[in-house]
Amino acid sequence: MKICWAGLGKMGLPMASHVQSAGFEVHAYDISAQAREAAESVGLSVASDLADAARDASVVFTMLPTGEHVRKVLLESGLERLVGPDTVIVDSSTISPADARAIAVEVERAGHSFLDAPVSGGTEGAADGTLTFMVGGAVESFERVRPLLATMGANHFHLGGTGCGQSAKVVNNMMLAMNMASVSEAAVLAARLGLDTQTFLDVARTSSGDSWVLRHFYPIKGAVPAAPVNQDFHPGFTAALMRKDVGLALDASDAHDVRVPMTRRVAELLDLLIAAGEGPLDFSALVKLASGEIDSAPHRRTAAVAD
Ligand code: NAD
Repeated sequence: MKICWAGLGKMGLPMASHVQSAGFEVHAYDISAQAREAAESVGLSVASDLADAARDASVVFTMLPTGEHVRKVLLESGLERLVGPDTVIVDSSTISPADARAIAVEVERAGHSFLDAPVSGGTEGAADGTLTFMVGGAVESFERVRPLLATMGANHFHLGGTGCGQSAKVVNNMMLAMNMASVSEAAVLAARLGLDTQTFLDVARTSSGDSWVLRHFYPIKGAVPAAPVNQDFHPGFTAALMRKDVGLALDASDAHDVRVPMTRRVAELLDLLIAAGEGPLDFSALVKLASGEIDSAPHRRTAAVAD
């Protein structure tokens, strides 16, 4: 079974490596020469163009930034004519449920099947092979690729028809973004109230303020060793990509008449971070707004700025 993999960024590279390490034949490609070199340096079999990676593949994975990129690779490159018959195409990028459904229609018209299979667990989960997959599409296709998903993830959920995986992912990241904003503000306040960081973390972990963000992404230096704050917010899940996901949540909320003022405020905070040139940083850099390093209310004089 030949597997084509497109997109070797922060998530795609470790994910494709797990599949290859489990003994599957992976032919990987990224549009960036730097990403291809990084993949070669860890022993991945890298193709010099997408066509080479795709030719006669029976499974294709995409791990790309946005729906636009997925559309380009799957629908505008001629890939559907190069792969073998009845190929399963698995998109693990986070894109809108509507885009996933529209892409699936085209893929199925070309005689293949499509699964939306976004993931959660971050770069840490990708490196450890402990991601959670949220899958939409035909159950038979899901069963065909389940052994591949098992090399990359600890949990694999089939949620229903095409787009259901992306729906779950959008809602998950809507909560993640709000959690990060709330933990950022609380963490700065805890520090300025003079609380010892480790003791406060022990309290919160065993109290009602506990959360995944608190345990993995607490944005105070030294508190949680693997948190992006300790590597100047590199690598991780960029603020720009999180803004895309919050936008997907806002679009879905508008379409379904859900009132989401908190989600809207987090979108504004991410916009301020991006406008300050910090879009490439991990989204836990939201803490810079809470601390006043970047002004979160340009029209008001905040206590943090007055410090
Ligand atoms: P990334 O920007 O690090 O990687 C994307 C890669 O796609 C880049 O290497 C880029 O060169 C490549 N690419 C772009 N266009 C291409 C094309 N036409 N052909 C081949 N390669 C192309 O992004 P990432 O952090 O790996 O995230 C990828 C997806 O996963 C996004 O949709 C993101 O929202 C989602 N995601 C990210 C995380 C995270 O923690 N980083 C977690 C869960 C989900």
